[in-house]
Amino acid sequence: FEESMMIHTLKMRQLEQNIPDAIKNREFVVYYQPKADISEEGNYRTNGAEALVRWVKDGEMISPGEFIPALEKSGLVSLIDYYVLEQVCVDINKWIEMGLKPVKVSSNFSRRHLHDVMFADKVEAIIKRYNVDSSLIEIEITESYEVEDMEALKKFEQRMHLLGVELSVDDFGSGFSSIRMIKNIVSDTIKLDKSIIDGIGNEGADDIIVSHIIQMLNKLGKNIIAEGVETKEQANFLRANGCNNIQGYLFARPCARDKFESYM
Ligand code: C2E
Ligand code: MG
Ligand code: MG
Repeated sequence: FEESMMIHTLKMRQLEQNIPDAIKNREFVVYYQPKADISEEGNYRTNGAEALVRWVKDGEMISPGEFIPALEKSGLVSLIDYYVLEQVCVDINKWIEMGLKPVKVSSNFSRRHLHDVMFADKVEAIIKRYNVDSSLIEIEITESYEVEDMEALKKFEQRMHLLGVELSVDDFGSGFSSIRMIKNIVSDTIKLDKSIIDGIGNEGADDIIVSHIIQMLNKLGKNIIAEGVETKEQANFLRANGCNNIQGYLFARPCARDKFESYM
């Protein structure tokens, strides 16, 4: 036990107690990171976005990496996930009102929701409440290969498909048993984790692994998007190997709603 552990625990406890108020006070802000179609070299086109939450507290912006993991443990993360989805619906309606043509937006949901029997109902209720075209919404859930999670995911996916909402597996390749379980993936889209994209271009094992994962997923009929793409070399490698969708600093960083509007 170290003092820093206690300070961290106390900070997180304090954070948790603040969540309901923070939501009420609109301290959570949704940023959008554009996704791009890179099939034409030198002519990337925005074809979607991911909604990413930020916490603006006393003028300071706190990134989700700092509070989401703690909230996942306590279950409070669900308040934020639904709040973000609602905000996405509000923004989509705003964009339509402005005369823009909204792109599909993905919203992150903690795996914890899979064990809530009302998960699909709650998502459906939000989309219907805001009367948003369900084909503009995508749900991202981090990869998991626990059997119960996979069964719950399958059920959730069926409900989402009835509704017209697509599902994507986030952070693919960051876990342990991805290859063995690849055939059981039920989602429409696979997001290749930054950690495996980072290794591209070193002409080592990573290039071989990434190119074959893409080939395999293409043959299985999955949509593929690479996360955390930072260099042209990575993008060119991905295109040459059959992955035409990227999200990463090379194309755009996450940005506030009004800035994102210019991408549309
Ligand atoms: P994620 O869903 O995998 O989102 C991608 C993260 O990678 C984002 O970090 C994004 O800003 C970052 N990123 C994108 N491109 C690049 C790049 O080229 N280089 C680098 N270094 N980073 C890049 P962010 O916004 O800090 O979010 C971190 C994580 O927090 C997300 O990872 C997601 O797991 C979680 N998160 C964010 N918003 C929500 C939410 O509303 N609900 C839940 N449950 N989790 C959320
Ligand atoms: Mg995500
Ligand atoms: Mg990810």
